[in-house]
Amino acid sequence: MIPLRLKAELPPLIEPLVVRLRDRRTEDFQPDCEAVLLDVSGGWREYDYGGFSLRIHAAPHEALDGDVLLAQPGRSSVNRIIRANSVHNTLVITERCDQLCVMCSQPPKTGHADLFAQFGQAAMLAPPGATIGISGGEPLLYKDQVFDLIDVSLARRPDLRFHVLTNAQHFGRDDENWLREVAKDKVLWGIPLYSPTAADHDAIVAKAGAFDNLMQSMDTLARAGALIELRTVVTARNVEDLPRLANLITTDLPFCSSWALMQLEPIGFGRMNWDEIFHDSSIDFEPIARAMNIALTRGLDVALFNFPLCTVPETHRKYAMATISDWKQKFIESCGECSVRARCGGFFEWYDQRRGFAQVGPV
Ligand code: SF4
Repeated sequence: MIPLRLKAELPPLIEPLVVRLRDRRTEDFQPDCEAVLLDVSGGWREYDYGGFSLRIHAAPHEALDGDVLLAQPGRSSVNRIIRANSVHNTLVITERCDQLCVMCSQPPKTGHADLFAQFGQAAMLAPPGATIGISGGEPLLYKDQVFDLIDVSLARRPDLRFHVLTNAQHFGRDDENWLREVAKDKVLWGIPLYSPTAADHDAIVAKAGAFDNLMQSMDTLARAGALIELRTVVTARNVEDLPRLANLITTDLPFCSSWALMQLEPIGFGRMNWDEIFHDSSIDFEPIARAMNIALTRGLDVALFNFPLCTVPETHRKYAMATISDWKQKFIESCGECSVRARCGGFFEWYDQRRGFAQVGPV
């Protein structure tokens, strides 16, 4: 597992600090927001940050050059909020959420720390052409600030793209111009839809009226020509309804760019409710295949996220993407000498084979 938090010895801080690490001083070195490596000793790397010492503890193989860190006063660790060598960089805007999804991998908390200024600085230090994830909790509980963050970032760094994961409960008609004029083709909205029926969707997300709110938001997004990636976590509760969901998406929501069917992540509520909601697609892929076939036949891009390749029949394997973020991805012993390992996403770090797929093994 790639550590996203590193032990650190910080200079005296009054406010949170965003700093980019450099292995050497480059021509475009920015002393106000970059620190340069001075020394490596006993697992510690010492950096010079404007004359102050910043010490980071990291394994010798960890590449930190270009990584953007968030350091907070009084802490003895830092967060790697943007890793230069990764395509899986996500800013967690808040841990608050107005839904309580049965499979949530990051159950919401009530507290909130406003780090928008720091996230804005971090975006400026992202590698050229980066796509930055924005997630939560529900980030659009702070919609104005998120829109500002995207606005300001794109004005200064038009090379950036954003991928916002949102429950789509908070878009209104007033947002249409912004979505059309600023977000346009720069923001992909990842929106979860779990069932073709309001009652079942609302039950899965534990919020009355969520389905109707979502559909109203979809109307706004469609009018603005927004890029939308629908996301459906496959569970025992909705798997038989997936073909009907495919029908709904392709008839009522034809403006969506893509549909991702996702395997369950065994952490948070996903782990707590695993026995009740995990659907073992390695022994029953049929309803998923039927749903995919309906959507594909009607021209919708479909992808499988978080499905190990050996749990997907060969007919549909080409749609399985290696989507598990690099920092929480693992392979298990039975992966052995598997011929497709190089393009397989493997498993979540917290996957437990004793409670997992019945049929996994080398392809
Ligand atoms: S055996 Fe491992 S590497 Fe091969 S498809 Fe299954 S999960 Fe992927």
